[in-house]
Amino acid sequence: MSLTDEFIRTDETFGAHNYHPLSVVLSRAEGPWVWDVEGKRYLDCLSAYSAVNQGHRHPRIVQALKDQLDRLDLTSRAFHNDVMGAFLRKLCDYTGFSSALPMNTGAEAVETGIKAARRWAYRKKGVKKDQAEIIVCSNNFHGRTTTIVGFSTDPDANEDYGPFTPGFKIIPFNDAAALEGAITENTAAFMVEPIQGEAGVIVPDKGYLKEVRRICTKNDVLFVLDEVQTGFCRTGKRFCWMHEDARPDIMQVGKALGGGVYPVSGIVADRSIMDVFTPGSHGSTFGGNPLASAVGIAALSVLEDERLDEKAAENGKHFMETLSHMPQQRIKEVRGKGLLVGVELQVSAGKARPYCLKLKEEGILAKDTHAQTIRFAPPLITEMTVLRQAAGTIMKVLVP
Ligand SMILES: *Cc1c(COP(=O)(O)O)cnc(C)c1O
Repeated sequence: MSLTDEFIRTDETFGAHNYHPLSVVLSRAEGPWVWDVEGKRYLDCLSAYSAVNQGHRHPRIVQALKDQLDRLDLTSRAFHNDVMGAFLRKLCDYTGFSSALPMNTGAEAVETGIKAARRWAYRKKGVKKDQAEIIVCSNNFHGRTTTIVGFSTDPDANEDYGPFTPGFKIIPFNDAAALEGAITENTAAFMVEPIQGEAGVIVPDKGYLKEVRRICTKNDVLFVLDEVQTGFCRTGKRFCWMHEDARPDIMQVGKALGGGVYPVSGIVADRSIMDVFTPGSHGSTFGGNPLASAVGIAALSVLEDERLDEKAAENGKHFMETLSHMPQQRIKEVRGKGLLVGVELQVSAGKARPYCLKLKEEGILAKDTHAQTIRFAPPLITEMTVLRQAAGTIMKVLVP
């Protein structure tokens, strides 16, 4: 049995079977590269679902974590620590909001946004007790808690996990008229991803978010934007809403905020909304802890100092343009923004997974998202020469 097979067998023997990973076992990483236990090198075109925008083991992020670990570890929020404030200030500066609430995972950030929106509805908008509604979109992905999967439209995500939290209304994505029609006096918020990543990198029409912003303002409804995957330069701007200046009321962030080394998430909002939270009404043992805060500061500094927004815009444009030259025989569409790119295969080409396995043989790790689409989201620090080579390999695998 190969080394790879032995590791996989141990995972399958002792682990729950809630994933179906590609058959590669990684043991080392640096920058855009990862190595498997057999010593083979790959370009990481998933970046842990965009949690590794800064590249693997970025020296400044690793150093920040090590330095903090030598000084102060975990305090809980029962006491102040001397790092969190600087982190929250930096996150506010970076996002352009006036306050932040730190959590750990994306799903917790989403839950935090839901709580904030509901409290706002009761305490500021005057919605009657327990009547608040949040409008969401079909094919959404916002995480894995029971409340969140309760408003998923993907049976794989929520079958046999009910009964679910009420108070969510589902409308089609990229349909501003449907939003306007769904709003009632009880509507607290509209929560949406600026690009639906897990649904297959679905990019809405130009102007959609701007129109959503207008409708939410007009109807006194909060615009809650889940930028957990699209945020932190992935799409070529700091945040995806900046492409059309559609500033949300609450923004949920996670993934790359932890620089690929530690789970860091949270929401940002302006003070008038954030102040619905009062002592004891929300929290997290690990949220805002010194390690997370030190890592968060470093992760944001790297995005800023290395201008990863500009780099993602520039490199993504070339990368996507190269891929869009593939003949239509197997390729239905190449779409995306910045370095978040989806390649949708023709139905006649079969499922995406076998192509991901072939890409792996050729030294590229990418994952199917939805049966028919492969997502390419390399770390944003990846050099153009490397991306050009990768595009060549991708074409070799996908063009018959
Ligand atoms: C990954 C993701 C989440 C959930 O993040 P976790 O850290 O896995 O809980 C939420 N929303 C979006 C858009 C995501 O891509």
